[in-house]
Amino acid sequence: MKNLKLAALNHTEGKRTLIEIGSHIIGEDFVVIGGPCSVENETQLMESARAVHDAGAHMLRGGAFKPRTSPYDFQGLGLEGLRILSRAKKKYGLPIVTEVVDPRDVSWVSEFADVLQIGARNMQNFSLLREVGFSGKPVILKRGMYSTLAEWVNCAEYILKEGNPNVILCERGIRTFETYTRNTLDLSIVPAAKEVTHLPVFVDPSHGTGKYSLIEPMCYAAIAAGADGLLIEVHNCPEKALSDAKQQYTPEVFASLMKKIEKAVVCMRELSND
Ligand code: PEP
Ligand code: MN
Repeated sequence: MKNLKLAALNHTEGKRTLIEIGSHIIGEDFVVIGGPCSVENETQLMESARAVHDAGAHMLRGGAFKPRTSPYDFQGLGLEGLRILSRAKKKYGLPIVTEVVDPRDVSWVSEFADVLQIGARNMQNFSLLREVGFSGKPVILKRGMYSTLAEWVNCAEYILKEGNPNVILCERGIRTFETYTRNTLDLSIVPAAKEVTHLPVFVDPSHGTGKYSLIEPMCYAAIAAGADGLLIEVHNCPEKALSDAKQQYTPEVFASLMKKIEKAVVCMRELSND
């Protein structure tokens, strides 16, 4: 791929990037990130964190800065949201994944986050990419909703170029003519991204479909496609969620899904070793 240097698979002579976060090695262990779309208040986040922890998921997500279509919708709790996430980390020991939307916030948000998320809407915010590059923190780089593979991996290149090798790509669906789903989850991008880069690739079936009923089958499909992990929205009480209410899992359904995901990962690994 033209101009791709540090992110290219041939740059590492085929060796895949491994990223150590807490007790997990991304790229080696299959990692599930669960948690609500937004941090809304202490009780909501703590109950959701407990659900994520008890189900056996590996990291906790929650947005403190929410990039919303309407400026009148809930924008997130900002610093207070990060403080709540920190308390959940202390209580449940789960590494924290949270979105950063403004280059000026990267250094202080990094004090709370174990993994910084760059949202789909900010994939090509080049000053934000440079700043997370300087931070050295692991970064989840969501695919922009109108982005090609080349555009996406070049954004990863921006982060790597500033000296941060810890980049995880995350497919979260793209815009197509289909309106039944919120987005069209492009799972063929998983093996494609792994053909051109050495970076780990995650899949977010929650935003990728926007529909509760479609998330479970897309989890299995993502595992079959070679994903290194999943990002799944889980809320203690989805019908009351302040954002993305239609796609968040209840604690009970998430716990049963986690068991099936573990089995699917084992099956897929057996299959690929054959
Ligand atoms: C999110 O993860 O809550 C989010 C806003 O995702 P995306 O940037 O993929 O829309
Ligand atoms: Mn969301």
